[in-house]
Amino acid sequence: MTTRTANFHSIADGIYAWQPQQRGWGLANCGLVTDGGRALWIDTPYDRTLAAEFLRRTRAVLAPGTEVDRIVVTHANGDHLWGAGVLPDAEVITTREALHHIAYEPTPEQQQALLQNLDKDGDTGAYLHEHFGCFNWADTPPVVPDTVFTGELELRVGSIPVQVSSLPSAHTSGDLTVHLPTRSTVFTGDVVFGSTAEHPGDHPVHWAGPLGNVIDAVERLLDTGAETVVPGHGPLLTRADLRAHAGYLRYVRDRAHALHAAGRTAAEAARAVIDEARYPELGLPERLLVTIGTEYQHLDGTEPPAMLEVVGRMAHLARQREARTA
Ligand SMILES: [Zn+2]
Repeated sequence: MTTRTANFHSIADGIYAWQPQQRGWGLANCGLVTDGGRALWIDTPYDRTLAAEFLRRTRAVLAPGTEVDRIVVTHANGDHLWGAGVLPDAEVITTREALHHIAYEPTPEQQQALLQNLDKDGDTGAYLHEHFGCFNWADTPPVVPDTVFTGELELRVGSIPVQVSSLPSAHTSGDLTVHLPTRSTVFTGDVVFGSTAEHPGDHPVHWAGPLGNVIDAVERLLDTGAETVVPGHGPLLTRADLRAHAGYLRYVRDRAHALHAAGRTAAEAARAVIDEARYPELGLPERLLVTIGTEYQHLDGTEPPAMLEVVGRMAHLARQREARTA
């Protein structure tokens, strides 16, 4: 079960990371940048309770009279966006594509209703309840971005330059990354899911793809030269860890392409990659069904299936694997 506490600590002068437990769905890392009487968040926690806790911890380190007045959101998945409601006066900044994406994501209210109404004995209901049952979106209003952009956006927080870059379709259709060049730090959003030998994380899940764009995004992050990497989920990474992550992504892409060429279905390919167990330390291997399914959609020119169907497939596979190890 999920532990609802987070580590909040300074990672560079004026830069803080909020890190919930390092494995599991929906527990995104967030950031605080503050200098010269200004403060900016990078992403927000999934629900109001966690977001209020992040805000309380934030205010404890801000200089008197300073308030968070801008939030840069790396993409439109609720686990990065929905906590913004605790700062109703802050300017929410994201990509134009993320704004479009919000329109076809479920609202917090719809997600809450879905979770409550699903049969908890069925695979899908049991899976959602196990992984999302600790969140509460009952009082979470939908977040509407105030400012959207495509390309590069240059912000400043006091004397700290903040370089925000939108990406082509990768983890979602509207991702961005944040580079703090004077602090040698990048916040990657979910184009990177962190894992280290000391703190193993989870398999990434990529909804939009293709994986080539995710790999390009990781290469661009390496090109910044930043030494400290805050992934969307999981432990902080070094440049060597980030290079290793690019290796993971290339492996999954290359296996998906080879198995596609060999006539295997996406589900067969995902199971084959799981059974190869190249990364046995990573949790949530059922996510490979999504990531490899996404890659197949690009190879075949087909549309993604409905979200609940995707979750159902993951839930079924997770239950089968549990039964096998039990
Ligand atoms: Zn996420």
